[in-house]
Amino acid sequence: MFFLIMSHVHLVYHSGMETFWKKVSKIDNGCWEWIGTIKNGYGIFHLAGSKILAHRFSAWLAEILPDLDRNENRFVLHKCDNPRCVNPDHLFLGSQAENVRDCAAKGRLGGFIR
Ligand SMILES: [Zn+2]
Repeated sequence: MFFLIMSHVHLVYHSGMETFWKKVSKIDNGCWEWIGTIKNGYGIFHLAGSKILAHRFSAWLAEILPDLDRNENRFVLHKCDNPRCVNPDHLFLGSQAENVRDCAAKGRLGGFIR
């Protein structure tokens, strides 16, 4: 039963892919900037009544992030320091500690799950 629910969720996410890439603008420095909703500097992707951080969705599509639903200890961080960027080549997976360190180093702590 649990497996069926998860499969359904993933099906919904996959159906959002087309919408997702329509809201991405590739800019000259190699970043793929989110042109949809922005909150706390991060892109927000609205899908099936859920709000998903756009760079996390991109990381999941690229299989950097194994699971969108249960990944509290996995944070998707930016190599390019551009929070709006969803280019999978600019994203990497880090722990919460690395996330906090990364934020602090860059002078922004938003309290928002990345
Ligand atoms: Zn980038």
